[in-house]
Amino acid sequence: TDMLINRITDEIWEIPVSEKSGMLVPARIYATETVLRSMDSGVFDQVTNVACLPGIQRYALCMPDGHWGYGFPIGGVAAFDVRNGVISPGGVGYDINCGMRLIRTDLTLDDVQPRLERLMTELFRRVPAGVGAGGFVRLNRPSFEEVMTKGARWCVEEGYGWHRDLAKIEEQGCIGGADPSKVTDRALARGINQLGTLGSGNHYLEVQVVSNGRVFDPDAAAALGITGHDQIVVMVHCGSRGFGHQVASDYLNVFEKAMRRYGVSVKDQQLACAPFRSEEGQDYFAAMNCAANTAFANRQVITHQIREAFAAVFGQSAEELGMELIYDVAHNIAKVERYAEGDLLVHRKGSTRAFGPGHPDLPEPFRKIGQPVICGGSMETGSYLLVGTDRAVRDTFGSTMHGSGRTMSRAQAKKSVRGEQLQQQMKQRGIVVKAVSMSGLAEEAGFAYKNISEVVETVDRAGITKKVAELRPIGNIKG
Ligand code: 5GP
Ligand code: MN
Ligand code: MN
Repeated sequence: TDMLINRITDEIWEIPVSEKSGMLVPARIYATETVLRSMDSGVFDQVTNVACLPGIQRYALCMPDGHWGYGFPIGGVAAFDVRNGVISPGGVGYDINCGMRLIRTDLTLDDVQPRLERLMTELFRRVPAGVGAGGFVRLNRPSFEEVMTKGARWCVEEGYGWHRDLAKIEEQGCIGGADPSKVTDRALARGINQLGTLGSGNHYLEVQVVSNGRVFDPDAAAALGITGHDQIVVMVHCGSRGFGHQVASDYLNVFEKAMRRYGVSVKDQQLACAPFRSEEGQDYFAAMNCAANTAFANRQVITHQIREAFAAVFGQSAEELGMELIYDVAHNIAKVERYAEGDLLVHRKGSTRAFGPGHPDLPEPFRKIGQPVICGGSMETGSYLLVGTDRAVRDTFGSTMHGSGRTMSRAQAKKSVRGEQLQQQMKQRGIVVKAVSMSGLAEEAGFAYKNISEVVETVDRAGITKKVAELRPIGNIKG
């Protein structure tokens, strides 16, 4: 980029308002110099476009996993005044409440290795994956509407999971302000058969191991049920499937027209937005919350299926196997939260909430250690469990990174390796992969992503999240 980027600290870079006409606040990028240099220039264009949106507060932010996205960069954080700011579907993303969930077990690598192949087959059978995959939960319109308003709570009431799971989910898995009447029939039709399904692309279910020596904060780890003695954990990455995608498309159409009416102009049509207080703004917020709750429910049903698969393979109940939920956190969402400025609408798109210890919105288990943050890396390299900090609340609207971020396009990745070949190579390295689409698998090769450890180091050093443990993959299910 030819834009001026000032170094604020070793991990924070700022593009001043003088670099683009219409910027209301500076843009801030969290990155080490190496990570900054590896970012595509689209990120700088997009984050400075976001800095022009009405009502934006303090900075338009981009996390070190940032890369080009629809309108807003993925890895973006933008907070708006609830009274005179906007809400934008592009600032949430198409996969509303895409998020990460982590489940612990008492099993060790030695327990699992001999049965890994069977475990992955069982998981693959019980958790439907792929673009149009349908789930086993049969819903009618009233029950789907209940899912939209109750989220994971609905699942627990129906027997998909344990009551104590709810305390381990952002917002207890049930966000207020969801109104099914604001959802189109088209969205409803796309979502009604998809509860408990993984989807495609980079959504995954991964069996991981926390090796000795890969625990960085033993106290936080212990509080979260992480022992680190070659312990097996399971990570799930998925969102609201076709339902959320349709909600996003529906409201992007609405907003493109509403923008003219409200006299809002944007640098890029993909930033379509409306005043948060407007009818359109409130309608999208109500529909988005329906999709957010549906995504929490989706990950909850998947968790139930995972527990059943483990129970079947290891001949013990999920309780006996210690399969407690560690946490479930959203990374594509907009929420009203209180900061020094007052109530703000915080958009997180490919970024994760990271509240520190003692934050009033955190339930008891996390008051002392801060909120868990779960970051994917790649199916070949590894992932991380971290915790939020007070500094995140002060500096980044309680937000941090969500993954490693792509460095290579899907098309290019596919040209570089064949899915079958990659699957074979991974098997030799002890990682069993089951995938619906072999070309889809090639798109997700480790080399297509940034080095997760380097990205995590950035937020750790910047103090907006603290590393707890590194998670290494041994089994992966891909859509
Ligand atoms: P996104 O939410 O932006 O779609 O991607 C989330 C992140 O998950 C990516 O930035 C990438 O780092 C990570 N990721 C993608 N595929 C996999 C996978 O198969 N396993 C793990 N552990 N991480 C992945
Ligand atoms: Mn995601
Ligand atoms: Mn997603």
